[in-house]
Amino acid sequence: MQIFRHIAPLKAFLSERLAHRGSVGLVPTMGYLHRGHLALIDASQKQNALTVCSIYVNPSQFNNRDDFDQYPRSLDDDIAKLEIAHVDAVFCPDDVVMYDREPGIQIGFGNLALGMEGKYRPGHFNGVALAVAKLLNIVEPNHAYFGQKDWQQIVVVREMVRELKFNVDIKVVPTVREQTGLAMSSRNARLSPAGRDAAGVLYKALTKAGASLREGKTIEEVAGLVNSLVGASGVTTLEYFEVADSETLRPIKSVKEAASPMLFIAGYVEGVRLIDNLFL
Ligand code: AMP
Repeated sequence: MQIFRHIAPLKAFLSERLAHRGSVGLVPTMGYLHRGHLALIDASQKQNALTVCSIYVNPSQFNNRDDFDQYPRSLDDDIAKLEIAHVDAVFCPDDVVMYDREPGIQIGFGNLALGMEGKYRPGHFNGVALAVAKLLNIVEPNHAYFGQKDWQQIVVVREMVRELKFNVDIKVVPTVREQTGLAMSSRNARLSPAGRDAAGVLYKALTKAGASLREGKTIEEVAGLVNSLVGASGVTTLEYFEVADSETLRPIKSVKEAASPMLFIAGYVEGVRLIDNLFL
């Protein structure tokens, strides 16, 4: 496995390897790797001759300085995990490589970023788009892999790829979960064992809400159910529960309004912000 901190040597490596004409898969991450990330890597390795994993905690996508400072980091452990997984190349740039100056452009997503993460993390998707666009231009992958856990991110990245004509296919990998149902996340490392157990309520609330909607309950009734389930657990704040069309992300009042309704949830456990979602 080759480790790159700079763009030019990574590009040279890729163009040399690509003389053998294989496809390249990119797995962008912020590190502190877990089984969710490894599922993305596995998907890439099955579909590509070369897999590049990037590790970069992108400051421009954090709207909250404390969240950025407290984001877990473990580059040496990550590199060891990627070595075991037989990843071909790791790209772990520093801030100077990624942002040689304050970015002078912004990428907006209109209605796609109005709700949910876009609403509660102002500027988040601009930051995600800047970093992902840079990584796509640096690596020029045929396929790039993203987790369903961050569904709004997938919709936004797909929109950027379509609008700006990036020559890449965006692939979605299902959410990998703990036994309790809790979606794996680097942020889970900040939870106590009790907090981890309590956090399982987010997924339980989603699955109960989904079942109730399928039985004919209204979104309003189901939102009440989610509120009380979450309220009765260790989740201190339910930030949002939304039912929206999975493609347009437009919130809906009845599941009949959307071709593909999806349930979204965000909450805080022990001060750690967690998100999850479920297709109906
Ligand atoms: P992150 O390092 O949290 O920015 O995540 C990097 C990529 O891994 C994103 O595309 C995430 O959606 C994806 N990812 C994070 N957690 C999971 C999970 N539990 N299952 C599947 N993919 C995930």
